[in-house]
Amino acid sequence: MPETFIWTDWLGARQTSCRKLVVKSRDQLVALLRNTPAIAGRRFHAFSTGHATSPVAQPVSGQFAVWLDRDAWISDPQGADWFKTEVFPDGTRPVWVPANKTIASLNEWLDRRALALGNLGSYDAQGIYGAIATGTHGSGMVSGPLADFVLSIDLTCVVQSAGAARVRSFRIEPTDGITKRNRFEDDVFDVELIQDDDVFHKSVVSLGALGVVTGLVLRVRPRFWLKETRKILPWASYKKSVLDGTSPDPTKHLYTDLVLTALPVKVKHQTAAHQVLVTTREVVPMPAGGAAPDRNDARSRSARAKWEANGHSTIETALHLSGLGSRAPRFANKCAFNRLVDDAKETFTSKSYKVFRSSIGDWVAATSGEMGVAENHWIDAVDGLIGELKKLDGDGLHPLSPIGIRFQKSSKHLLTQQHNRASTTFETPILIGAFRHPGSPNSSAASMKEILGRLEGVLIGATFQGRPHLGQRSEIDVARTRTAYGAATFDAFKANRMRFDPYGIFANPRTTELGL
Ligand SMILES: Cc1cc2nc3c(=O)[nH]c(=O)nc-3n(C[C@H](O)[C@H](O)[C@H](O)COP(=O)(O)OP(=O)(O)OC[C@H]3O[C@@H](n4cnc5c(N)ncnc54)[C@H](O)[C@@H]3O)c2cc1C
Repeated sequence: MPETFIWTDWLGARQTSCRKLVVKSRDQLVALLRNTPAIAGRRFHAFSTGHATSPVAQPVSGQFAVWLDRDAWISDPQGADWFKTEVFPDGTRPVWVPANKTIASLNEWLDRRALALGNLGSYDAQGIYGAIATGTHGSGMVSGPLADFVLSIDLTCVVQSAGAARVRSFRIEPTDGITKRNRFEDDVFDVELIQDDDVFHKSVVSLGALGVVTGLVLRVRPRFWLKETRKILPWASYKKSVLDGTSPDPTKHLYTDLVLTALPVKVKHQTAAHQVLVTTREVVPMPAGGAAPDRNDARSRSARAKWEANGHSTIETALHLSGLGSRAPRFANKCAFNRLVDDAKETFTSKSYKVFRSSIGDWVAATSGEMGVAENHWIDAVDGLIGELKKLDGDGLHPLSPIGIRFQKSSKHLLTQQHNRASTTFETPILIGAFRHPGSPNSSAASMKEILGRLEGVLIGATFQGRPHLGQRSEIDVARTRTAYGAATFDAFKANRMRFDPYGIFANPRTTELGL
């Protein structure tokens, strides 16, 4: 009998009592599903590290939560000659990896083989497939979401066959997929190879709702180093320089992102203005010796010091900061700005995956909303957000963290913010505990909801065509989320979901509320 288990997300904000099933291999998963009586009425949920702050990460109460054992996982055999090519003409190559590896352990595993992913998000504690499943992305026009590095997924699910529920495994790839059909089918009897662009692009970003992904083939490149340089300047000056071409256009650069202060800052004799930290990364040759430092910039040092002073608790650190910050938001904003100024004085050169890792999530708990807008509207979208931040300030509401602005290529994967259009994403992290002050006080939860909802509200709709990140918290209602992604996109996802999970066995609270 599986043990009762309290699942929790990384913040401890969502909790569900369920039954934990630990599986150590795909064979064991298949056997377990086959041996479940009346499976069509059950609910299963593959869970990872719970960094999705939307209910997409949440198992269904009282039902089964499947854990792919990271420490004892036995991978299915992979034939040495199954791939059509070992190296693509551009030097990238396919590698098969278990779906449950954390991004951090995957990075190290690739590095030991002199390989690396071409782009990454700002954090690495998520599972690689847990991240891909919700459309996680980094910044820079080198790629769209991480899903764009996927060549193949191995999915185990429960389909309907001759009117009965059947456990099946599939390898799903584009039409001209990486796997040699004849070699694969000679060696593997219990996995069906589907090579079909349409199915592939509807399946990779699955929100966990198609079944359990046990492995994936990723397209990786030779290991590389990045040099990061930063500058900080008023938003209006930066905007002008991008428009007149004196600053490089971030929507064209391989690795650029921006951080915008949440309130205006008064610098010396200038008038108070929102400031923007511009981070640019360039590929550089690996230095002699090759010792690769970890990130230790001013923001990280400051966050870590506060975490150490708050009992090594990310929640206590956030509560400490949000308590101070909500009462004195201008002071908090100036402190945050000073860290950005310090950051701009430093350069950072290291292995790519260490440079990409810029989040301070190890030390401070925050919940984020994120909207991806059509790229050609990004400058107006910044101005729109600045307008709403001013109104929020007037109402005593402050997100207390700078806003992250990142750029991605268009992607063919369906439920991504970048589907069929290059995008600019706006991430609004709100420190846990942020509350309204001064003015009519309300609870922290209500304040956070209002801040997030109002900032998202600027970007949703016809002008900016914002789409909420489906793995982040969102206050956008179902109807507007559906419109944002396009009704046809939602319907296409659902039709594909009905093929692989006709009984809704792998539905989660988020896919259910979205009608997916
Ligand atoms: C500190 C922090 C930093 C972040 N940085 C970024 C960023 O830079 N860019 C960005 O885009 N997002 C970012 N996010 C969002 C985050 O990447 C996503 O929410 C991601 O989905 C979380 O991955 P996870 O491994 O924790 O999965 P979970 O949150 O546990 O699960 C997410 C979904 O994946 C499904 N899933 C997991 N494993 C499997 C499996 N083996 N088979 C089938 N389904 C599975 C689950 O069922 C669930 O539906 C960040 C979040 C945090 C908290």
